[in-house]
Amino acid sequence: MPACPVCAGTAFRVLANARRLQEECRTRELFVAHRLTRPPQPDESKDLTEFFHTEGADVLACETCGLLARNEHEPPPAQEYSEDEYDPAVMEHQYPRYLEAFRKKENPYRNLLPRGSRVLEIGSHYGAFLQVAGEWGWKAEGVDPGKDTSRFAQSKGFTVHVAALEDCSFPAEHFDGVFIWNCFEQIEDPRPTLVVCRGVLKRNGLLAVRTPDGQFYALCERLLSDAEVRPEAKDFLLRAMGYNNLLGFPYLYGHSRATLRRLIQPYGFEMQGTLSSELLTFPLPENPHWVDREEREISAGLRLLENSVLIDQSGPSIGPWVEAWFRATAAS
Ligand SMILES: [Zn+2]
Repeated sequence: MPACPVCAGTAFRVLANARRLQEECRTRELFVAHRLTRPPQPDESKDLTEFFHTEGADVLACETCGLLARNEHEPPPAQEYSEDEYDPAVMEHQYPRYLEAFRKKENPYRNLLPRGSRVLEIGSHYGAFLQVAGEWGWKAEGVDPGKDTSRFAQSKGFTVHVAALEDCSFPAEHFDGVFIWNCFEQIEDPRPTLVVCRGVLKRNGLLAVRTPDGQFYALCERLLSDAEVRPEAKDFLLRAMGYNNLLGFPYLYGHSRATLRRLIQPYGFEMQGTLSSELLTFPLPENPHWVDREEREISAGLRLLENSVLIDQSGPSIGPWVEAWFRATAAS
């Protein structure tokens, strides 16, 4: 494992070893299979049981800052996100669910930028946030190397640059806001991305980032391996992990509020706020009513535990995912 991208530390401990991760992947497959109404087509498994990171790996925790990092035993297959194939019918089914998830983010985000603001979403996927940003009065465009997903977003009338961010050459200080809802944790070295973000943002511009919460995952791992924890509680945690796509930890990094602050602030940003968050939507090709109901119940259970059980050492509550927003400062 190279140095930690947050603190440059080189000491890591194994939080979950490869065998544990494989067990979780099996649990995830059973979790998904139980909630499918029929066997999925190959394209429908995307983001459900079929992930970029499936090879044997340990999840490590940085001893200095607590960042979780996935240490692949073998490099991931030489496939790129840009070639990922998506089924248009599945995208059409899931699109309203993503819209609903983004509309729920109105508080606090809508008030953070005035109407007419120019915003960029990095990793714009199906374009659901671009639509919601438009509903909030913002002028939104996306950048995403995924061909199928970007074609889908473009078919809805959105401006999407089908490219890597660094190839887009946006003018300096062009945007009032940059949003990274879905891919920050998958960027191997996030530092060049942060340089570009600061460069394209106006002074006092907004940067919002969302990632899986490494502290939540670490807490779940600890409780699941604790013989004193009751089986019903473990079952709840496993379902919470399932609905939040944390089983098997298919991500490169797991951040906390503290690691996001430590990583992002030196690039000319100041942290302004954070909140606990959840997966946008569990991406089933069809959603039986009982699954929707269970997802809502798990979500309500998590909110009950936030601010009581799910608290990190420094105070704030933790949840399955974490969001943080920053303002671009004068010095960049
Ligand atoms: Zn670190």
